[in-house]
Amino acid sequence: MDLLINLSYIAASVLFIYGLKMLGKPATARRGNQVSAIGMLVAAVATLLYSGLSYGWIVLGLVIGAGIGYYAARTVQMTQMPEMVALFNGSGGLASLLVAAAEYLRRPEADAFTALVIFLAIVVGGLTFTGSVIAFAKLSERMKGSPILFKNQQILNAGLLGLTLLMGIIFMFAPKAAGFLLVFIILAAFALGVLAVIPIGGADMPIVVSLLNSYSGIAASMAGFIIANNVLIVAGALVGASGIILTSIMCKAMNRSLTNVLFGGFGATTTQSSMQIQGEAKAISAEDAYYILENASNVIVVPGYGMAVAQAQHVVKELADLMEKNGTEVRYAIHPVAGRMPGHMNVLLAEANVPYEQLVEPEDVNPTMENVDVAIVIGANDVVNPAAKEDDTSPLYGMPIIETDRARTVFVLKRSMKPGFSGVENPLFFKENTRMLFGDAKSSLSTLVSEFKDAA
Ligand code: NDP
Repeated sequence: MDLLINLSYIAASVLFIYGLKMLGKPATARRGNQVSAIGMLVAAVATLLYSGLSYGWIVLGLVIGAGIGYYAARTVQMTQMPEMVALFNGSGGLASLLVAAAEYLRRPEADAFTALVIFLAIVVGGLTFTGSVIAFAKLSERMKGSPILFKNQQILNAGLLGLTLLMGIIFMFAPKAAGFLLVFIILAAFALGVLAVIPIGGADMPIVVSLLNSYSGIAASMAGFIIANNVLIVAGALVGASGIILTSIMCKAMNRSLTNVLFGGFGATTTQSSMQIQGEAKAISAEDAYYILENASNVIVVPGYGMAVAQAQHVVKELADLMEKNGTEVRYAIHPVAGRMPGHMNVLLAEANVPYEQLVEPEDVNPTMENVDVAIVIGANDVVNPAAKEDDTSPLYGMPIIETDRARTVFVLKRSMKPGFSGVENPLFFKENTRMLFGDAKSSLSTLVSEFKDAA
């Protein structure tokens, strides 16, 4: 039976790796997801073949977990998806912590290696849990997005981390006698998660979310070592590694180093720019915007979080189709941190059947921006904020943006003059070539669509 289980685990691991590879391209991503899910099914069924399991408890857990999952999947709004993902990451961390604690209670006389992995699973799992809860609160705007900073914060963090490591070393060498330390280690891990995430604010949150994702994988992998489950070790390592790759992509997208994000206290010195914004914001009606679009030979669509809120992706595609019929070249510029989760815009546009070939990266579109007739900014804000390149006192300074301010004309579709997630004012709205098309993005775009249809 052991052989059969381990062979199934190898098959599951191959399916995970193959599935992950397929996730690398939009065209194969959906299949990749299915392949990985089959891998997970194989792994779960094989695990159930172990002898000595209490099926009653497993069924109970399954019913409760599936119930919560079903309820969450049915009721969560598409716009709440990112915060949901953050919460699920956290649950993964908590599960690993619980596995480690339960395993210790079952076998307190662990060897040094097992004690080490129990310690690591608890620390990484615990801080992933509370860190994710804070990320959830920030993403859902239950908590202020700006950094929470206080005096001697870094000293406190370093001190707590040092103390936790010290407790870990003692625990490692005397797991049975020092078992009581686990309670303090768990509390310290919970505190570390909170303390690590509260000073990170605004635009740096994508990096934190992907890092927490990676941590949840590392904790799972440690749990795999504790209960000697090969597929958990492999799956956890895959999540850990892909999370780190994603973190590095996010850091690159924002032109920031990981140490800077984690220890820099984003916006610590400035939460607002000291530069005064010049000019006056000029509004335009959808009817007038139509006349400009009708004459444009090429258009760049820049979607952001507001497109997700408005659920405007289908009407964006409808408008793009009409413009193309009118002879206009349409491309979509996607910033890696647009929206509230990695790939957020890609998922929405794929849902609306926007061809992948029309999606372009900021570094490809920026050099051609002077030749763009109209840039339509749909609910994007931080990712098009010129303060990131013009104002070295701005908290966004240094983050590469989609430089729509250099297009001939810019339409900004949003409901008000409010800033984006980072809370930083956007000088784009006041530029000479910018026109604000106020209102819900979906209804503004629908009006544009009707104008095109009426003219046809
Ligand atoms: P922003 O959050 O900067 O701006 C979104 C804009 O959408 C707002 O200014 C809002 O303005 C507008 N909006 C909201 N609802 C509507 C609506 N119904 N119709 C029209 N407009 C609407 O979005 P971006 O995508 O530009 O930037 C993403 C931000 O989120 C970055 O700061 C990024 O770092 C951060 N982030 C990203 C994550 C990721 O993984 N991608 C994760 C965590 C954070 P108004 O209220 O006036 O309508």
